[in-house]
Amino acid sequence: MMGLRATKRLYFDHAAATPLDLRVAKAMLPYASLAYGNPSSIHAEGRKARQAVEEARKQVAEVLSVRVEEIIFTAGATESINLCYKGLLAAAPEGKRHVVTLATEHMATLRVLQDLGCEVTFLPVDEEGLVSVDEVMKAIRPETVLVTMMYVNNEIGTILPIAEIGKAIEKMRRVKGEVYPMFFSDAVQAVNSLPLAVNKLHVDALCLSGSKMYGPKGSGVLYVKKGTLVAAQIVGGTQEHGMRAGTENVAGIIGLATALKIAQAEFANYEGCLRPLQKMLFDGILEKIPGSEVNGSLTQRVCNNVNVSLPEVDGEAVVMYLDEAGIAASTASSCTSSAGASHVITALGRSASEAESSIRLTLGRATTKREINTVIKELVRIVALLKIS
Ligand code: PLP
Repeated sequence: MMGLRATKRLYFDHAAATPLDLRVAKAMLPYASLAYGNPSSIHAEGRKARQAVEEARKQVAEVLSVRVEEIIFTAGATESINLCYKGLLAAAPEGKRHVVTLATEHMATLRVLQDLGCEVTFLPVDEEGLVSVDEVMKAIRPETVLVTMMYVNNEIGTILPIAEIGKAIEKMRRVKGEVYPMFFSDAVQAVNSLPLAVNKLHVDALCLSGSKMYGPKGSGVLYVKKGTLVAAQIVGGTQEHGMRAGTENVAGIIGLATALKIAQAEFANYEGCLRPLQKMLFDGILEKIPGSEVNGSLTQRVCNNVNVSLPEVDGEAVVMYLDEAGIAASTASSCTSSAGASHVITALGRSASEAESSIRLTLGRATTKREINTVIKELVRIVALLKIS
C-alpha cells in the first residue's frame, strides 16, 4: 500500500464518508465524555441521557415532518434496511412475498433481499440510470409487499422520482383498499442535497446514515410510518419502542440529529456552492480527456457526484495513482470497490470494460475551485501515463 503523504490531501470521496462537522462534534462531546449515563437508568445521569436522546428524536422527527414515535435510531443505514425489510416480511401475510426494486440499488438492499429468499423484480434503468413511474407501477402485483428504491444513487448520483412513485403507490392502495405494498426509500445520499420532508416524498419508510451527512459513523435512522407492521429483529431490552434492543449510542444519536438538522437547513447553500464546481469538473474531464464519458444523467443528478468512464484505463489503477498524488477518490461505492465491474455502471448499458474504467469523484462542503483544477490536471497526467504503460 502506498503511504499517505504529509502534504494536504484532497478529499473527493464524500459519498463514502464525510468529515465530522465541528458543530456536530461540539454537540456530541458532553455525551461522549461526562454525561455517560444509560438512558434506561432512573437516576439523574440516566434521566439526562434519556432527555438528550428524546430531544434528538424530536429534532429528527421535526426535520422529516413525522411523529417522534416513527423514528428508530440504529447503527447505520445497513441496519435500518435489514430491520425494515426483514421485519416487514416477518409481519406480512403469507401471500405477500414479492418485492420490486431497481437493478442499481445499494448492496445492502440487494443482499438483504437475496437473504430473504422472496421473489424480487429487479427493474432495469435506462442509459441515464433512471426509471419511470409507469414501469414501477406495472411491476406491482397482488403479492407485492414492498417497493424499495433509493432516492439518490450512491455511485452515479442520479435522483429517482421518489415523490411521484410514492404518490402513485398511495393512490393504488387507496383505490384497492390495500395496505401493501409498503414504499421504502434509501435516502442516504440525498440528505445533503434534497429536502426530506416525508409528507412531500410520500414514502412509508426511509433510512439515513450519519456518516454521509457530516455526522458520526455507526449512527443511522429508520423512519417507519405509524401503523406499518414491522417485526423487531434485534430483541432484548425495550429500547427504541422495542424495535431495536440494546443501550442507545447516545453521543451518536445526538450527533446524527445535529448533523441532519444542519444538512437539511443548508442544502440550498450546498447546491449553490457545489453545482458550479461539479460542472467545472465534468467539463474539464470531458474536454481534456477525449473519449471519457459521463455515467448517469447530467440533469437528474445531485450536485456533488461526478462519475465518468475513462478511455482505455483501469479505474482502480487511476484511483491508486490519484491516491499517490494526494487525492482520495473511488471506483464504485465503498461497499463494492474491489468487487469487479460495478453493477450500477453495467446496468446503464456500459460494457464490463467501460465499467471497470469508471471512477467516482464526490465533492463536499469544503471543496474548492483550486482543488478541482488540481484533480483535472492529475487525472490528465495519470490517464496519459496509464495509456502508455
Ligand atoms: N445506502 C446507501 C445509498 C449508501 O451509500 C450506504 C453507504 O455507503 C449505505 C446504504 C450503507 O450505510 P451504512 O454504512 O450507514 O450502513
